[in-house]
Amino acid sequence: MSKAIGYAAQAGDQPLNYFEFERREPTGNDVEIVIDYCGVCHSDLHTARGEWAGVRFPVVPGHEIVGRVLRVGSNVTKFKVGDTVGVGCLVDSCRSCDCCAEGLEQYCENGFVGTYNGDDKHLGGHTFGGYSNHIVVDQDFVLRVSDKLDLAAVAPLLCAGITTYSPLRHWNIGPGHRVGVVGLGGLGHMAVKLAKAMGAEVVLFTTSSNKVADGKRLGADHVVISKDPEQMAAWANKLDFILNTVAAPHNLDSFLALLRFNGTMTLVGAPAEAHPSPNVFNLIFKRRSLAGSLIGGIKETQEMLDFCAEHNIVADIEMIAMDDINDAYERMLKSDVKYRFVIDMSTLNQK
Ligand code: NAP
Ligand code: ZN
Ligand code: ZN
Repeated sequence: MSKAIGYAAQAGDQPLNYFEFERREPTGNDVEIVIDYCGVCHSDLHTARGEWAGVRFPVVPGHEIVGRVLRVGSNVTKFKVGDTVGVGCLVDSCRSCDCCAEGLEQYCENGFVGTYNGDDKHLGGHTFGGYSNHIVVDQDFVLRVSDKLDLAAVAPLLCAGITTYSPLRHWNIGPGHRVGVVGLGGLGHMAVKLAKAMGAEVVLFTTSSNKVADGKRLGADHVVISKDPEQMAAWANKLDFILNTVAAPHNLDSFLALLRFNGTMTLVGAPAEAHPSPNVFNLIFKRRSLAGSLIGGIKETQEMLDFCAEHNIVADIEMIAMDDINDAYERMLKSDVKYRFVIDMSTLNQK
C-alpha cells in the first residue's frame, strides 16, 4: 500500500479538509496515475454533503481526473509510463452481465464501482476519488487523453462531457433536430457544445439572465429565460428532444409542454429531493416520453474524448486551488460557475 493525500468531507455538515489514506499497490492489471487536474461536479457536492442515500464517510470526491501514468502492472498493455490519461466516474464493474458485455458498465446489473463511494474490491471499505495526489485504476477503466487539448479543460469531459454525450447519441441527435438544454452549468454547457457539434439547432433554457451572451457564445442558437412564461410559451410544441441538467427539484411540466409530438425529455440532473410529479396529460396527448440517463460506459467515454479532440471541444473552466474547494461548492449552489471549476492538483500540499 502507498500513502495518498487528498481532501475529504468527514460528515455531511463538515467542510472538506486535508486527509491522508492508503491506495493499493498496483496489481498486474493496474495503472498508477499522478493526478494533475480534477473537475468539480455537482455530484461531488451532493455526495460530500450527504444529500444522496447511502453516502459513506469520509468522502474524497472527484471523478473528472486527468493525469500521467507513473507505474503500470506487469499485464498492462494499453498504457505506458508517462502517458496522459483520464479516469471518469467508474473504476470497475462485474464485467460479465449483459450491460457490461455491451460496454454499458454504468448500468452493470451487479453494480458498478464508482470512482468514489463505491465498494473497494481490493482494500475493503469504499473508494476515494480524484481530490487527491494519485490513484490506482484497472487499465480497462482508464481513458486515453489527447495531448493536443488543454488538459485542465479536458478533465470535465470525464463526467460532464460523457453524461451529456451519451443521451445525445442514444436519442440519435443530429442535423434537423431542435434540442433544448435546461440549465447552463457544468453539464449544460457541455450539452450545448456537443449538441451543436452534432449538427442540432440548440435552444438553451436558463434561469440566469446574465448567462444569455455566454449561452450564444457556447453555441446556442436561441437562449430562453425559463422564469419568463411569455418566452417559454413561444417554444410550446417545438422541440424534438430536451436534456435537463438542473440540479434542483422543479416543475417538469413547463418543459414537457415544449416537446413536439413523440418528443423526449431526458433527465440527467439528480437532485436528492423529488420533482413534483408531471401532469400525465402532458405526456399522453402527444405521446411524449420522460426518460433518464446515467453517465456513459468506458467505450463511449473514449469515443466522446476522441470526438472532442476532433472537434476541438473542451470545457470552459475556472481553475482553483485545493483550498478553494469549500468556497467553490457555495458558488455552485448559487449557479455561479463559468462553467466548471477544475482543481489544480499541484496546489495540494502535505500538511
Ligand atoms: P451545476 O454546474 O451546478 O449546474 C446546474 C445548473 O442548473 C445551474 O448552473 C443552473 O443553471 C441550473 N439550476 C440550479 N438550480 C436551479 C434551480 N433551483 N432551478 C432551475 N435551475 C437551476 O451542476 P452540474 O455539475 O452540471 O450537475 C447537474 C446535475 O446533474 C447534478 O444534480 C448532478 O448530480 C447531476 N449529474 C448527473 C449525472 C448522471 O449521470 N445523470 C452525471 C453528473 C452529474 P442556470 O443558471 O442556467 O439556470
Ligand atoms: Zn459527475
Ligand atoms: Zn456488470
